[in-house]
Amino acid sequence: VSHSPNSHAPLEGPLVIDSRRLHRQPGSSLRLAADAPIEAPLGNDVLAVPAGTTAEITLLLESVLDGILVTGRAVVRTRGTCVRCLDDIDRDEEIEFRQFFSYPGAEPTEADDESEDVVELVGNHLDLRPAFRDAVLLALPLTPTCRPDCPGLCPECGHRLADDPDHKHEHHDPRWSALAAWQPEHPSEGE
Ligand SMILES: [Zn+2]
Ligand SMILES: [Zn+2]
Repeated sequence: VSHSPNSHAPLEGPLVIDSRRLHRQPGSSLRLAADAPIEAPLGNDVLAVPAGTTAEITLLLESVLDGILVTGRAVVRTRGTCVRCLDDIDRDEEIEFRQFFSYPGAEPTEADDESEDVVELVGNHLDLRPAFRDAVLLALPLTPTCRPDCPGLCPECGHRLADDPDHKHEHHDPRWSALAAWQPEHPSEGE
């Protein structure tokens, strides 16, 4: 996947790094930490990182021969709904992202792995916003649950099974009603 430079958004904010802060000598590295405000919600209908929250981001920038590799980690707040029991979800999620910025005209090397996001470095700005955004969207499950073993709701009455693990409707089990309906047609004559 490669991203075209985002020409609409101004190049600013904690996810836009001036590459001159890092020496271009291979082996040089720089660690940065920043809080990035989330200005627009990121996510889907059931789970999202809401606007107004803050992502805690740490970045590692590494100079290599033909560019700069950025590895990021972020802790984001996620809010949504458990798809099994419909309870609210409100918890931190940790995500990771990588972005390789190649120097203009650099020959592709082993660093240009197909699994890696590569974007040509234009000017001095390392724009990590698309990589961050993609990583958040990928990390959010489409069927989030309040906990991995959420038992959900009773399919018959909607009772929250987590509140009452022994809850069941033995007399309304369809297998039993089928049996009950079958029995009268074959009454036992007391053989
Ligand atoms: Zn649940
Ligand atoms: Zn029930």
